[in-house]
Amino acid sequence: MRIRRKMLAGYGVAFALLGVVLLWAIANLVSLGRATDAILRENYRSILAAEQMLQTLARQDKLVRDSAMGLDAEALPAFRKEEAAFFESLAKAKDNITIHEEGGVLETVETEYLAFLGAANGVLMGGTASGPNPLADYQSAVLPGGDRAADACRALKSLNEDHMFSASMNAGRVASRAIWSTLAVGLVAMVLGIGFSLGFSRRLVHPISELTRATRRLTEGDYDVRVPAGGADELGALAQGFGAMAQRLGEYHKMNLRRLLSEQRQTDAVLKSISDGIIVLDADFHITRVNPAAANLFRCEAGEPASPHLLEVVRDQKVFDYVKRQAESGPSAGLNEEDRVLALEREGNVRYYLYDARPVQSEDKATAGTVLVFRDITRLQELDRMKSEFVMAASHELRTPMTGLEMSLGLLEERVGETLAAEQSALLETARQDVARLKALINDLLDLSRLESGTIDLQLVRVPLKSIAGKTVSLFDAQARERGIHLSCDIPEEVAEVKADPNKIAWVLSNLVSNALRYVDAGGHITVSAEQAGDWVHVHVADDGKGIPEEYHARVFDKFIQVEGAAGTGGTGLGLAISREIVRAHRGAIWVDSSVGRGSTFTFTLPVFTMKTGDTA
Ligand code: ADP
Repeated sequence: MRIRRKMLAGYGVAFALLGVVLLWAIANLVSLGRATDAILRENYRSILAAEQMLQTLARQDKLVRDSAMGLDAEALPAFRKEEAAFFESLAKAKDNITIHEEGGVLETVETEYLAFLGAANGVLMGGTASGPNPLADYQSAVLPGGDRAADACRALKSLNEDHMFSASMNAGRVASRAIWSTLAVGLVAMVLGIGFSLGFSRRLVHPISELTRATRRLTEGDYDVRVPAGGADELGALAQGFGAMAQRLGEYHKMNLRRLLSEQRQTDAVLKSISDGIIVLDADFHITRVNPAAANLFRCEAGEPASPHLLEVVRDQKVFDYVKRQAESGPSAGLNEEDRVLALEREGNVRYYLYDARPVQSEDKATAGTVLVFRDITRLQELDRMKSEFVMAASHELRTPMTGLEMSLGLLEERVGETLAAEQSALLETARQDVARLKALINDLLDLSRLESGTIDLQLVRVPLKSIAGKTVSLFDAQARERGIHLSCDIPEEVAEVKADPNKIAWVLSNLVSNALRYVDAGGHITVSAEQAGDWVHVHVADDGKGIPEEYHARVFDKFIQVEGAAGTGGTGLGLAISREIVRAHRGAIWVDSSVGRGSTFTFTLPVFTMKTGDTA
């Protein structure tokens, strides 16, 4: 049955109960009406007739008495009129015999009245028949006859009054029975109605509650939930639809699960097969996955550990800061490779790991986590160290013969220079220049390898930057003037003193200024400036020379890197590498901003001198 029909049936039952109560009340009213009607019909009319008969009798009695006393000579016609009225009332009373004894009483009334009439007629007809004393006749025959007839009328009246009283008592009983029975029927109907409504509404709502419960279980992931099919109404159809939907969702969920599991297995296999250590972090830097290589490295559990914080496992603030920075600022904010090396001591050996962090972004571009990779570069570090040591040893060994060669060439030129032919003299000059270049290269190599291997100690002191820069720039004044280049040093007094090795910083500044002089044309400008930014002083060497293409911006600080077209300028390609090593040794950084044709600005940072670190002047 459809819900609408069910509801209509429910209303129908309620209306039927209401109808029963209504019918019952009407029936009671009808019976009450009947009871009161009986009073009127059965008794009141008889009482009225008895009363009229009594009055008629009284008037007739008076007429007879007046006539007997000679007071009313014309009493007869009036008497006849009253007589007719009496019989009329008597007929009415006879017409309305409703009580068992009433017939007998009326007979007595009629008999007594007729006797009264006989006596009265005798008196009224005028003394002839009745003798000379009509008054005596009246008193002896008429008056007692009239009294008897009146008594009979009164008996009729009181019989009806008694019956009326009992009928009214009966009507009262009927009324109170009607009230109570209507109340009882109403109550029964109400109880039945409430019971029916409760049962009916429960039956109606039951499938909806089942559906609600099933929906809740479905949202909790129970895809096996089903709703009993129920009836053939709309809710039954809904339950069937729900079952089909849950089944489909279950299948879809299983399919997704299978796909996810297979993807996870693939990822696991990939992670296991990678020899680099890989740690996967969530957005709060808690570890969600670790591959066996990383687990071995940090002695933690591979697979999915109980989400410890990165710092609990890696225990290196620098790594954590880097990861945090990468996660917050995106993959572009990187550190140089040299600054991303983690040294770990394992079984008495120190091993070096180059780490890198890649943020994982969610669909809304928020950082959902980070993948941290540790690559073992111990062998590369070792090779680098060996290379530096070899370069240092080779340059050291080469420097002495090269100095000797330079001196010999100088002496040769001095002694026989004037006797040589022009061609020979040019050859000698070329040899001298080559030796000078080689010597410069060997010196640079030696310096660089010393710096890289940490053999050169820094003499860190409290020093005003303005004085180092001023002195260094003044060394290049003559050269700049000669080439028509405007060289200036513009460092404000308020720039804080730095904690640095003055000779090494002068070396960096010399490299940068000499480079600028090399790549700035006549009429160009070179400016050395500085400003303070927090705990650091930024030193700039800016020129408006030929500039450096963007792809070289990071690489120019690597060894032997020369921008195309710069060869032949007499450089060794090591100046900027040496400068970077020196700046790094001061814990600072160096970079270049440049665009081709507009010039370059090299910037390096030095730490501001502070008393709290226990620095000594
Ligand atoms: P080099 O001894 O060759 O100058 P550097 O390491 O000092 O070696 O510089 C590397 C390269 O960077 C140079 O060969 C040059 O191409 C480029 N370079 C350095 N400074 C400047 C500059 N101020 N203007 C343009 N190019 C520059």
